[in-house]
Amino acid sequence: MVEIRKDYFTEKLSIVTSERGPRIPAKHLDHGKCAFCPGNEAMTPPADLVLVKMGDTLVKQTDTEGELITGWVVRVFQNKYPVVTPNAPATYGEYPHYSEPAIGYHYVVVATPNHADSFAKIDIDQWTNVLATMQDKVRWLYAQRGVSYVVTFINHGKGSGETVEHPHLQIVTVPRLPPVVDLEAVTVQNSLNELGVCPMCQVIASESGGPRQIISTEFYIAFTPWASAHAYEFWIYPKRHQTSILKLSQKELMDLSLLLRSTLGGMSKVLDDCGFNLVIHSSSEKNTTKQIHWHVEVYPRLSNWAGLELGAGIFVNEVSPEAAAEKLGAASRKELAQMVGIT
Ligand SMILES: [Zn+2]
Ligand SMILES: [Zn+2]
Repeated sequence: MVEIRKDYFTEKLSIVTSERGPRIPAKHLDHGKCAFCPGNEAMTPPADLVLVKMGDTLVKQTDTEGELITGWVVRVFQNKYPVVTPNAPATYGEYPHYSEPAIGYHYVVVATPNHADSFAKIDIDQWTNVLATMQDKVRWLYAQRGVSYVVTFINHGKGSGETVEHPHLQIVTVPRLPPVVDLEAVTVQNSLNELGVCPMCQVIASESGGPRQIISTEFYIAFTPWASAHAYEFWIYPKRHQTSILKLSQKELMDLSLLLRSTLGGMSKVLDDCGFNLVIHSSSEKNTTKQIHWHVEVYPRLSNWAGLELGAGIFVNEVSPEAAAEKLGAASRKELAQMVGIT
């Protein structure tokens, strides 16, 4: 059984599934046993997108029956234990037991052939390869039936929900706009209609150069949000109003890689490679009336949610966003300087 259920009163959604076992935190595996490592391609479903280096160029390939591509730099395949499935039973429930089929796709993007690498360490070129491959897959997914929104995220390290430690990104499609993105879209729409301005553009203007700014590059800014729910939480926004991560130019893609690598590298130094979740909020290609200013949100997992957080939606953050920005800023600027020095 797998279905999406909506809360009695609120817009909260749950995917209820009996197809997956309990989430077991990732254990350290030797190279030979990790399904995401080169040489173990047969341990995962066949890859439908593989990036391979041929001389100086990168070529897109696909696993075929009997021939699994080796020597890849990025590898994309369906999750063996998906949370949604194209074959979900088409059953619907009525209020108050509202439910709809959990139809969708769940993909894994392996970000590097090197098991011991991390998002805080891979170089800018590889970050760009990963982002460009992710864009390809997201575009393809939006062309599939039943896909209303594509969620892209990273679970890394302790407390993040990670089940395989080999660096990877996950892509999950859902048949409706997720409640968090929907709320942002309504806020943006209301502000655009009533005041003629994007509220996210206003936030960027007000945080630029302020006490919560971490780092700023040609096209992007990273800052700790005013009401951060998590200690050291930070967000990355394109400085100009841009609705989708699918709209980036090659120059913007490389600049985003530089910013992601610098901030995640800085965070890893300050917080000793702590676990984190990273999620991309971007506008849906299907629901074009509900647009947002796309961005990345990073939540370090330093503490567990307790009664106030779970029961009242009030977060206790022991580190002020201003103090967090100061530390993350210093460390990220150091990383950035090294990167620019190297490249
Ligand atoms: Zn591995
Ligand atoms: Zn904007």
